Amino acid sequence: MTDIRSLTKDELTGALTALGEEKFRGAQIYGWLHRQMADSFDEMTNVSLKLRLVLERQFELVTLKAVQVLTSQIDGTKKFLFELPDGNVIESVWMQYHHGNSVCISSQVGCRMGCRFCASTLDGLVRGLTASEMLEQVYQIRKITGERVDSVVVMGTGEPLDNYDNLLRFIRLLTSEKGQHLSGRAITVSTCGLVPQIYRLADEKLGITLALSLHASDDETRKELMPVARTYGLAEVLGACDYYFDRTGRRVSFEYSLIRGVNDRPAAARALAMLLGGRNCHVNLIPVNPIKERDYGRGAWEDIEAFKKVLEKYGINVTIRREMGRDIEGACGQLRRSYGRSRQERGR
Ligand code: SAH
Repeated sequence: MTDIRSLTKDELTGALTALGEEKFRGAQIYGWLHRQMADSFDEMTNVSLKLRLVLERQFELVTLKAVQVLTSQIDGTKKFLFELPDGNVIESVWMQYHHGNSVCISSQVGCRMGCRFCASTLDGLVRGLTASEMLEQVYQIRKITGERVDSVVVMGTGEPLDNYDNLLRFIRLLTSEKGQHLSGRAITVSTCGLVPQIYRLADEKLGITLALSLHASDDETRKELMPVARTYGLAEVLGACDYYFDRTGRRVSFEYSLIRGVNDRPAAARALAMLLGGRNCHVNLIPVNPIKERDYGRGAWEDIEAFKKVLEKYGINVTIRREMGRDIEGACGQLRRSYGRSRQERGR
């Protein structure tokens, strides 16, 4: 059955006229799906019962179910575990910043990129999410919180550029005028550095922000932390980022997770400054979130500050990511893993 929430307005109109419906039904039902964010065809009260039954038979309406919602007592951050139609679970996060509310979504169930410090990749990739499953994370969070969503970051579980076509469809639907109409500027896609897809993305004219997970200033260290670096070296991936900036005029954001004794020495900070040279960019330092499966720890606060100072000395625009929701399961992918474990235990 066709996944109706993943169709563009034109595709939906085409599908409905093929069923003998009038053209205006396309826009009407599209509005129900993406403006009203309907959970069922029954909610579409200005659509005749007869047509609703036809829709029910012809289309699948993907709706996510929140199976767990945790609220941080420290900063109000909410973490959501959503169940997908096939029973898999994914996690998403809602955060409140002074500049607005942000939702962090997952793009895949699991991940196959194998970054050493990341919990999301420990069990490998199950599958990529459909556009409707990515949209539904935003829609359900909007409805459950009753709050505005000002920006969306694709920084949850999964490698978005490893699920390219669905990601593009998701962005086009989320920015569509008859849907939530988010601006491209309000969307950030984070990648571990799949070079061919970065070039492709640069040519799509979406106006979104690209974030690159850098995590090291030399190829040796990066290869140790991120298997993808064995395929694409630093020169290649930075070349792709430069192309992205040239094509879109959007400043690239570089993420750098600080790991004690691995990449957090002042020498690494200087090497990073050299590597980024005169680029118009932004560096986001993330104190690593230790996962128990790996022996990576967080350095002292002074070391993190010192690293930042070195970059600033070289004129680099740098921030330390504020830790959100520290009391409700740390790193990406940990909530889903602990839920999976407790479900297995209940099953036994
Ligand atoms: N696959 C994409 C997006 C998902 S992860 C990517 O690699 O960019 C979002 C960011 O969190 C990435 O920079 C990732 O490297 C980082 N990250 C993952 N696990 C982490 C951890 N335990 N501590 C700190 N940062 C982590």
